[in-house]
Amino acid sequence: MQKSFDSIERARINWHSQCLRVRYGEKVWRLGIDAGFTCPHRSVDRLHGGCRFCASDGNVSAYQKSQTFKSKTSVPNTINANVNASNHIDDGSTIEQQIRRALAFTQRRYKAKAFFLYFQAYTCTNAPVPMLARIYDNAIATFERLYYDAQKQAGMDLQLSNLSKTPLKGIIVSTRPDCFDIAKAELLASYRKQGFEVWVEFGLQSMHEETLALINRGHGIDEFLNAMDIAKKAQLSRTVHLILGLPGESHGSMIETAKFVAQIKPEGLKYHDLHLVKGSAFARSFCSGEIALMHPSRLPALLADCLELMPASTEIMRLSADFRHDETINLHPQVDKHKLARAVEEELAVRDSFQGQRFEFD
Ligand code: SF4
Repeated sequence: MQKSFDSIERARINWHSQCLRVRYGEKVWRLGIDAGFTCPHRSVDRLHGGCRFCASDGNVSAYQKSQTFKSKTSVPNTINANVNASNHIDDGSTIEQQIRRALAFTQRRYKAKAFFLYFQAYTCTNAPVPMLARIYDNAIATFERLYYDAQKQAGMDLQLSNLSKTPLKGIIVSTRPDCFDIAKAELLASYRKQGFEVWVEFGLQSMHEETLALINRGHGIDEFLNAMDIAKKAQLSRTVHLILGLPGESHGSMIETAKFVAQIKPEGLKYHDLHLVKGSAFARSFCSGEIALMHPSRLPALLADCLELMPASTEIMRLSADFRHDETINLHPQVDKHKLARAVEEELAVRDSFQGQRFEFD
């Protein structure tokens, strides 16, 4: 029987969502958590003010904003971050509310049965290890309690001790390369040993030191490589975040970044297209004519070029940024992530190519 056009196209990119379906037999949902972390790069004592593309809310996802309970628009310091995190742990209420809402929504609307807890907002390793352990433990325990309470109320017979049956499949921790060390990696590895998938998401954005300086990233390539090495030794799954269309970057610059990241063979990859987030330094730079924005029509061919260079095994988690329309200065029509994914797949199909076709390991 002839395969459908859709199934042929999907195979051209190693989608993370499809990999999860294979591993767990169903769709796995990410439940985003704002656990009260802040970002050390926005701290008063470092006087850095954060990355120039980032708004003061730390690029919390659009859906998560409706669940964020504390205003973090002032510039906090690391001690405050810990106090915030401590407050969450002490009462546990905000994490519980977030999980309760996300669980109820995904179960009601999508009949969701498998989940990751996603520590996403700001820098989710920005606390001492014992506090991190309390935060992650609390979230996992809260999830399982809420999930099983709901199932029991629905009259389901449950084996709480059987981890293989837990609907929680893993945790994801988003962080900066310079806020990660061996002790934090070992803590995260302890969850892997409990049977969870553990993903650590590292922002890199570009391999070019001059770009990292321009976007005020606050770390260089060495810190990134060191963090990736530590995470790999701890057998954690590593996701790299890259931005396309950063000021001063040519097509060749972005291809060089793709080749550089490919050599690390990350387990996961997220591409974002640069957006001018209101309140960010880049939004101000754009308004004063200092920077320009890449037209999104370039994205399908550019992303196809980049994906051809990536290892076939790297799981692709996203190809575009996700912002609410009213949060950004919108010069161009909003990129629909599904249409963009389809356009990249079609571009690869036209080339009779696929992710990894031009991957070369030095
Ligand atoms: S590290 Fe993340 S949260 Fe911090 S300023 Fe940069 S993008 Fe924003």
